[in-house]
Amino acid sequence: MSADGSFASAVPSVGCDQPAIRFERGQREVFCGLTGIIWLHRKIQDAFFLVVGSRTCAHLIQSAAGVMIFAEPRFATAIMEERDLAGLVDADAELDRVVTRLLERRPDIKLLFLVGSCPSEVIKLDLSRAAQRLSQRFAPAVRILNYSGSGIETTFTQGEDACLASLVPVMANEAANADRSLLVVGALAEVVEDQLARQFEALGIGPVRFLPPRRASELPAVGPNTKFLLAQPFLADTARALEARGATRLAAPFPLGVEGTTLWLKAAADAWGVDSATFDAITLPSRERAERSLARLRSQLSGRRIFFFPDSQLEIPIARFLSRELGMELTEIGTPYLHRQHLSVELDLLPQGVTVVEGQDVDDQLDRARAARPDIIVCGLGLANPLEAEGFTTKWAIELVFTPIHGYDQAADLAELFARPLDRRTRLVA
Ligand code: SF4
Repeated sequence: MSADGSFASAVPSVGCDQPAIRFERGQREVFCGLTGIIWLHRKIQDAFFLVVGSRTCAHLIQSAAGVMIFAEPRFATAIMEERDLAGLVDADAELDRVVTRLLERRPDIKLLFLVGSCPSEVIKLDLSRAAQRLSQRFAPAVRILNYSGSGIETTFTQGEDACLASLVPVMANEAANADRSLLVVGALAEVVEDQLARQFEALGIGPVRFLPPRRASELPAVGPNTKFLLAQPFLADTARALEARGATRLAAPFPLGVEGTTLWLKAAADAWGVDSATFDAITLPSRERAERSLARLRSQLSGRRIFFFPDSQLEIPIARFLSRELGMELTEIGTPYLHRQHLSVELDLLPQGVTVVEGQDVDDQLDRARAARPDIIVCGLGLANPLEAEGFTTKWAIELVFTPIHGYDQAADLAELFARPLDRRTRLVA
């Protein structure tokens, strides 16, 4: 940003050489898509997630979500075992019985997701037929959908993509004469949603709706007058489903950090014809406040070297933020899957020559991380402990999904997630 804070100079030069991307196909170390339930169940308040899985799935959900105590939990596992599948008719009847008992006990549930998993016992079940069958029985009081959270998919954030994509076909058609509307796509913390909604309102952009909604009855309509902004980089299937309904994606980086948030808001402002002076006047106070909070962290992070193992699909936007706004050095950015179109602006913003690796061969990557000796490694839980034991400082990638990190007011919180472990390590060593 220029000294006078004008936006023009904050717009990066987009279209320069993108980094070369290397593919790796080997052993992967990632969580499965069931993990998404842990943040999605807090988001859609009258939804329930019924995992149709094995005892392993139940353990994953319980141990990952066990710390969250609710009077009425909003997720559970229907454990399907071989004996249930001796005859599939019995398995269907058993599932119907579990769902019926659940919905009788819990009239507050308005949206039920049957979440598939990867054990062979479950793959044999046709959950989409089960969802249709049960929907007919419980509509209109309860809508029943299904998606897969299976570990056979690429990574754990795909669970959110599959969940949101399952909502798109049941979104109403927008009215024929509907004004254009903005849809923000991706689960965000409510505090972040409220901040973004205020920014859009001040800019005169609207109506603005969010997917997923807070309540099942607030599922927005969609159609050719819907423009949408992705808030997360892992929503390929959801974006495809929205585009098939006629909606148009606004190309932008993701709203992480001051620069990402500014360019993300600017994409909507341009689509709504907001002039630059108005845009600057509205966004400048937030940008300056966020930059002041980042300034105190820059001295801790600048020049520190970071290595990303592929895990959340948030790696590229976060690497862009840490490099451009905090001066961190990127040794390698691993990402489980890279959507060229959705990440195009992000790739333009990365420093030239950076190593980007799509996919994973965990042993090779561990060797490269050891050779690079970065100051901090972002990785999944399974790799964090062994790497810490080798003397590396690590950051769990999953925290990046659980923590509110989007938007101006959270930019410093995002930087803190990396500054804190480095600071702790420094104090331990001292
Ligand atoms: S869905 Fe597959 S990977 Fe995930 S917990 Fe169940 S068995 Fe494990």
